[in-house]
Amino acid sequence: MKYLFLLTITPVQEFISHSRKLKDLYGGSHILSEMSRIGLEYAQKKGAVVIFPQKVEGTNSYPNRFLIEISFENEEDLKDFSKDVSDEVLGYFQSLNITNNKIVSQHIEDFFQIYWSASEYNGEYKEAFDKVENRLAGAKNSRFFTQLGEVGRKCSICGERNIAVYKKPMRFYIEEQRKNLVEAKKSDNLQHGEGLCGVCYMKRISKVKSFDSTADIAIMNIPLEIREKFNYLSQDSQLFYEENLDKSYFDKNDVDYPLEECLKEYKQFKGEIKDFKQTSYYAVVMFDGDDMGKWLSGQKLNDTSKLKEFHKDISLNLAKFAKRAREILKEPKGMTVYAGGEDFLGFVNLNNLFEVIKELNSEFSTLISEPLQEKYNITDNFTFSAGIVIAHYKTPLGTVLSEARKSEKKAKKNSGKDSVCLTVLKRSGEIRESIFKHKKVEIVKNIVNQLKENFSDSFISNLEREFLMMVKEDGKLDLKKSLLTSEINRLLNRSKKSDDAEVDMMTELVSSIYTKEFRHFSDALAIAKFINREIQ
Ligand SMILES: [Zn+2]
Repeated sequence: MKYLFLLTITPVQEFISHSRKLKDLYGGSHILSEMSRIGLEYAQKKGAVVIFPQKVEGTNSYPNRFLIEISFENEEDLKDFSKDVSDEVLGYFQSLNITNNKIVSQHIEDFFQIYWSASEYNGEYKEAFDKVENRLAGAKNSRFFTQLGEVGRKCSICGERNIAVYKKPMRFYIEEQRKNLVEAKKSDNLQHGEGLCGVCYMKRISKVKSFDSTADIAIMNIPLEIREKFNYLSQDSQLFYEENLDKSYFDKNDVDYPLEECLKEYKQFKGEIKDFKQTSYYAVVMFDGDDMGKWLSGQKLNDTSKLKEFHKDISLNLAKFAKRAREILKEPKGMTVYAGGEDFLGFVNLNNLFEVIKELNSEFSTLISEPLQEKYNITDNFTFSAGIVIAHYKTPLGTVLSEARKSEKKAKKNSGKDSVCLTVLKRSGEIRESIFKHKKVEIVKNIVNQLKENFSDSFISNLEREFLMMVKEDGKLDLKKSLLTSEINRLLNRSKKSDDAEVDMMTELVSSIYTKEFRHFSDALAIAKFINREIQ
């Protein structure tokens, strides 16, 4: 009997987003990909034919779910297989030899849930696929939640499980609790006073090569050749920021370089980067394909008998895009954390943000949407909507990731999707947020360029102040477009830096991002102003 078999490893979001360092995040994403790879390879050894994910040469990243076609003599064999494949996936942790501490292994064992479903497949692909999808959703819904209810000190990162590994000094209210726990080794990279549960610990000590912190991304526009001249500072990018050159940061992070020498290096560093702008901010970009459910269910197809081939093509095109995305977003522009399946998560240096978004969007269309439209005669565009959050490198990473997820959701609510929601989380606590279509990214970029060259950004605060008085209770601006345009023109004339400044062109740029929802308009301008001040 032939079956379609769908397997998914959960929980992904919880696992990924509980991260303090960029390294935790990257480690977590690598672990998930490895688990999925192991499961898939095991299934292939048992004769499975993969429907998704399809692979392209030179990539090694696996999404957290796979769909295969596989034959068994009877249902018993299918059940055995599903148990074995789950054991293989979870067996990955034994191979890591993390520690023989029982609490650590218990945390890891309890954390991951492997769900699978199968349906008989006698050539009717769509029917079998719908069934296997529905069954998996049902299995996930019936998940039995175990209440942990442990007493004791909670993990510094997730706050959910108890501490399993800690670094001194750590006070326990009940000293007895300490004795079953492991004290971290120096190479484990825990901060003083940090205590991690087994799951968060596993991510932290992952051997995969990654940038350590978000400061690495923020500093990337300062050329590596310059940064590497500074022996001490270049060991930890946070040391390129003066606020960390003090005893409390050094103690907490086990930095054992002489502070005096570091301060000396910092002075020289500032001298060397006079031509560059150093920023403390970076951007997170998170997206997945719009209407994935509709695309996968075959709603976009004229002929659903081609659904299986269509699935393979979608998956193959996504894999091609993922490979390309990793080439686009890498040092010195930033780093890709994961790209695979339909999901993408990357960190971008602010100086490259607009260029990276534009390029990703254009490649998504070229590598995924256009080939599908052509081959299957589909008129709809396959698009993506992105949450982009600009944050200070000291803002807790978990907060930034959850804001990025919220932004992504807001972008997806924009009519027609194909949108971005751009949010700035300032260190001061001020938040600015604007939602617009991908095609407007270029306009915002041009406004930033014009601010750099030709206009003082004072017109933005003037405009905001003036128009805010005319905003109605529903947040909409009560003003004719022609009046708005002439007022923008007048304000720009007052803030041009030279007589050559093209006021009319800038007026058109600014007016073209106008939306009735005044806040989206004024926030888009405020974000442009913010980015301009932070980049070169
Ligand atoms: Zn934890």
